[in-house]
Amino acid sequence: MSENLLSKIRALSDQMGVSVTGLPEKIDIRPGALSLAPPFIREKGWRSPLLVADSHTFAAAGERLEALLEEGGTAALVTLVLPNEQGDVIADEASVVQVLLALQGNKSDVVVVAGSGTLTDIARYAAYTAGLPFVSVPTAPSVDGFTSSGAPLIIRGNKLTIRVVGPAAIFADTNILKAAPAPMIAAGFGDMLGKYTALFDWKFGRITAEEPYSPEIAGLTESALLACVSHVKEIGERTEEGIRILTEALMESGLAIQLFGQSHPASAAEHHLSHYWEMEYIRTGRRQLLHGAKVGVACAEISALYHEIAARPEIRNDAKWDQIRKEIDRVPGPDEIRALLHAVHGPSTIEELGVSGDLLRRSLEEAHVIRPNRHTLLRARNEGGLNLQ
Ligand SMILES: [Zn+2]
Repeated sequence: MSENLLSKIRALSDQMGVSVTGLPEKIDIRPGALSLAPPFIREKGWRSPLLVADSHTFAAAGERLEALLEEGGTAALVTLVLPNEQGDVIADEASVVQVLLALQGNKSDVVVVAGSGTLTDIARYAAYTAGLPFVSVPTAPSVDGFTSSGAPLIIRGNKLTIRVVGPAAIFADTNILKAAPAPMIAAGFGDMLGKYTALFDWKFGRITAEEPYSPEIAGLTESALLACVSHVKEIGERTEEGIRILTEALMESGLAIQLFGQSHPASAAEHHLSHYWEMEYIRTGRRQLLHGAKVGVACAEISALYHEIAARPEIRNDAKWDQIRKEIDRVPGPDEIRALLHAVHGPSTIEELGVSGDLLRRSLEEAHVIRPNRHTLLRARNEGGLNLQ
C-alpha cells in the first residue's frame, strides 16, 4: 500500500515534469513496520544510531527499537528529550541543543526518532545541522509533517519553519499508531479536515492574485482528505483500516507539499489561526494545544466566516465572485465540520478546545499577517479586498 504511495508521487512528478527532492526512500505503513527499521539502518551501512524519544514515546516504541538495534549489532545511544517548565516537549532551541550534544558525544552516523510531530521536528533539525540522515518511526498519526522537509521550530518564542531534509525512511507501525492517545488521533484527523479551507484558499489565491497552483497536487490532497472523511467512523473507532487510512492521508498530504515545494496544498487561513493561537500560548506561558486540534476547530471557524462572507448582499456579482462562491459552496459548513470532529472524539468548538472568544476575535483580525505572501480570503476580508476587480 505505502509503496503505492511513493510510486504515485513519483509518477505524478514525472507527469508534471517537476523533479522533487527530499522524498523518503521508503514509507512503510503496516502492522509491525517498526521491526523493519533496524535492518534498513544496517543495510545502509549506518553503525552508530542516536535514538531520540521522550519518556512516553520511548515506552510506546523506543524501547523496542533500542532492543532490536542492539540485537542486530548496531546499539543506539538513547536521548530522551525533556519537557519544558509547563510539561510539554517543544521544538525549541533547548530541545535541539540537547539532541545536538548527544549526537556530538556519540559520534552518531544516523538519527532515529521514535515520536510524534514535535519530536520528529527536533530530531530532523538536529540531524540536518549535523549533516546526518534520519529515520522516522512515528508513534501517533497526529500531523501531516512526517514526510516534510521543513522543521517548524520555536526560537525565542517565535515560530519559524526552517527548510531542512526529509527522512531517509518512515516506518509507520499501525499497531503502535492505533494505541496512540485518542486526542492525537483526533488531531491528525483535524489536520486533514483543515485541507477543506486550505484548498479553498489556494484556489482563492489563484483566482484573485494568480498565486501558483497545481490541479494535480490539489487533487492529491483532496483525495487524501475525502478518504479520511469517508472513513471517519473507522478512524474514531481506531480500527486497523481507519488508522492506516488516516496515516496514509497524512503522509500523502505531506508529500503533496514536497511535490509543490510550498505549503499551499495543506495550509492557509485555518493554519494561520492555529499559529496565532500557538504564539499567544507561548507568550503567556500556557501549555500547548495539539496542532491538529487547533487546525480542526480553526477550520470550522474559517468555514463559518467564509460562508457568511459569500452570503453578504453587498458582495458584488461578477464572474470572479461567482467562481469564488462556487468554491466556498464546496467547503462543508461549520456544523458539518464540527460533527466530523466529534465523530473522532476531538474538540469541535473553541470552548471545547479552551481558546477564548477574545483570542479567536483577535486572530480572525490579525492572523493573515503571519504569512504575508499568501492571498487568503481572510486576508482579503481584513485588508478591504472583498470588492475584487
Ligand atoms: Zn498542519
